[in-house]
Amino acid sequence: MCTTGMIADAVRAVGGQQVQVTTLMGPCIDPHLYRACEGDVHRLASADILFYSGLHLEGKMASLLAQMGDATYAVTDSIPRHLLRALSDCDDVFDPHVWLDVSLWMYIVPYVRDILSKHDNEHADFYAARATDYLNRLQQLDHYVRVRAAQLQPEQRVLVTAHDAFSYFGTAYGFQVVGLQGISTESQAGIKDIRKLVDFLVDQNIPAIFVESSISQRSLQAVQSAARARGFNLTIGPELFSDALGQHGTPQGTYVGMIEHNIDVMVTALSR
Ligand SMILES: [Zn+2]
Repeated sequence: MCTTGMIADAVRAVGGQQVQVTTLMGPCIDPHLYRACEGDVHRLASADILFYSGLHLEGKMASLLAQMGDATYAVTDSIPRHLLRALSDCDDVFDPHVWLDVSLWMYIVPYVRDILSKHDNEHADFYAARATDYLNRLQQLDHYVRVRAAQLQPEQRVLVTAHDAFSYFGTAYGFQVVGLQGISTESQAGIKDIRKLVDFLVDQNIPAIFVESSISQRSLQAVQSAARARGFNLTIGPELFSDALGQHGTPQGTYVGMIEHNIDVMVTALSR
C-alpha cells in the first residue's frame, strides 16, 4: 500500500509482478488535506508493507501512520537531510515536495528495493535488476527536464503557481518559483499581494502562470484579471501536476509522464 501515486509508481517499477500495489490517494487528491476514512484505516492496517512519503506531506494522517505496524516506511527517509529544504525557522521541518526534483526522487528507488528485498529476500536479485532499470529511466528523465529547461532563457524561467510546491524543482532546474499561497498565508490571496505579483509579472514580462491539478485556481484568476486590467496579456497555462498524478490511463497518470508534462507545458507557455 502506498499513500501517493508517485510512490506507487516506484514500488510497481521495482516490484514488478512480485508485488500487488494499491494507492491510497487517487488522481488529483491533495495529500496535505487527505484524511483517512474508516475503510482506509482497514486497508492500511491489512497491507504487508506500507510506504508513505513523509516530511509531513500526509499532514492529516500523522497520528494514524504512527499507529501502523513495523512494516511502515517513509520513502523520504532515504534522502540525505542536507539535500532537503528547511521551512522557515524550524530546523526539522522540511519542504515535502521532493519528487518534483527527479534527482532527489531517485534516492527512494534503492530504498524501496531494499525494503522489498528485506520482506521477500528470495526475489532480491529480481528487485535489484528492476531498480537499476528504473533508476536509468529516471536519470534519462532528469536529463530531459534539463535539456527542455535550457530551451528557455534564464530570465524566462519564472514559475508562478497557486501553492508553493515547486521549490526543489526550481533549484534543480534553474527556475525562479513564486507560490501564490506562499506569498499570502491566507487561503485567498490578498489584494496587496496580487498587486505586488502583477507588478512583478509585468516588469519581468512573464507571459503565463500555472494551475495545479489539486488546487483551486480562483486566486490565479484574480491575478490574471488584475494583469489584464493593466493591458498585460497574462495566460493561465495548462494544468501542472504537483502533488498528485493525473488520471489513470493518461500520460500524466505516471510519475515519468507527470514530470514530462510539467516541463513541456512550462516551456511552451513561457517561451511565448
Ligand atoms: Zn503540496
